[in-house]
Amino acid sequence: MSPNATNRKVLVTGGAGYIGSHACVALCDAGYQPVIYDNLCNASRHVPARIAEVAGVPVDFVQGDIRDADGLRGVFREFEPCAVIHFAGLKSVGESVREPGRYQDNNVGGTHVLLRSMDEAGVRTLVFSSSATVYGDPDVVPITESAPVRTTNPYGQTKLDIECLLGELYEASPDWGIACLRYFNPVGAHPGGRMGEDPSGIPNNLMPFIAQVAVGRRERLQVFGGDWPTPDGTGVRDYIHVMDLVEGHVAMLRLLERGPGLHHINLGTGRGVSVLELVRAFEAASGRSVPYDIVARRPGDIAECWADPTLARSRLGWRASRDLAEMCADAWRWQHLNPQGYGD
Ligand code: NAD
Ligand code: UDP
Repeated sequence: MSPNATNRKVLVTGGAGYIGSHACVALCDAGYQPVIYDNLCNASRHVPARIAEVAGVPVDFVQGDIRDADGLRGVFREFEPCAVIHFAGLKSVGESVREPGRYQDNNVGGTHVLLRSMDEAGVRTLVFSSSATVYGDPDVVPITESAPVRTTNPYGQTKLDIECLLGELYEASPDWGIACLRYFNPVGAHPGGRMGEDPSGIPNNLMPFIAQVAVGRRERLQVFGGDWPTPDGTGVRDYIHVMDLVEGHVAMLRLLERGPGLHHINLGTGRGVSVLELVRAFEAASGRSVPYDIVARRPGDIAECWADPTLARSRLGWRASRDLAEMCADAWRWQHLNPQGYGD
């Protein structure tokens, strides 16, 4: 790719979603021009305008599906992006167990179509949203990128399948620049309080659930298991501020500008935090109490999972800089200023 003074456009699939929307702001801040391509199956139609408001520049938005080759062709022709950041995908583990075919079709099938469209358009730079779920239940923590990959559910299988597809693509065409960024647990929100995570229905993830309890939308948190082999008996994860995470994408894009390659990189903080530690940090940040009950373990859960972020630091010159208090403060600001999320 050659992002230069004239072409700083980046196609952002899934750019209206939680992480994609924050990435668009970070891209604008870094002088890129995001072009959002999202079918809005899990995002509000108000998001593109919010991104533009927060970034202070107009942002292009096309409503479309990554499985629609004609739609993608039109976007590549109209905007001529120099790179793609690929966030679009379905992400609920429970739903993927019930509807594995839909997850394969949307996530893996959609990526096939996207890659073909990129090839046709001569765009060979791709940053893909992978996940720490590719490590399954890790043998050791912290997890390095050389740990074995395995899958524990159909959602995780789609991430593994796509990583495999991208590996094969790079082997066949080493002029591509490809990054699989393996996210740990993204939380928090843009500090301005205008953008954040807005899950539809009952949140699956811990942080949005805690935030909804604190704001009074839900009564109590259920803590899934108090008997894990961890210091306080609750699950341990590597929570990373979404702004740190998306800044990691900008750093990745800059590295890919320098030449082709295939990268697998963890984006995490390197620090494990338990469920109860997160509850206490959120209470401190919000001044609200978060009542909870300890209940049975959630099927498929693991005890602990956190990153070794060394490779990201050495290769990208990037490290997460925002601490747990800031993650909770920013999540709380978004939640209490927008108790119903984007409101549609
Ligand atoms: P999200 O659901 O908020 O965003 C995904 C976006 O993709 C949504 O806006 C949705 O409308 C869109 N989309 C889905 N299928 C599409 C399709 N076929 N065509 C066009 N648009 C489509 O999720 P997120 O939390 O922002 O996650 C973004 C990516 O990061 C996903 O690929 C997810 O699997 C991955 N990821 C997320 C987490 C996390 O905890 N949030 C962790 C690891 C990896
Ligand atoms: N968790 C919980 N109650 C909830 C949601 C999550 O106790 O309502 C726990 C879960 O068991 C895990 C941690 O919080 O230990 C993070 O869960 P999340 O679903 O956010 O992330 P993941 O398990 O995918 O890493």
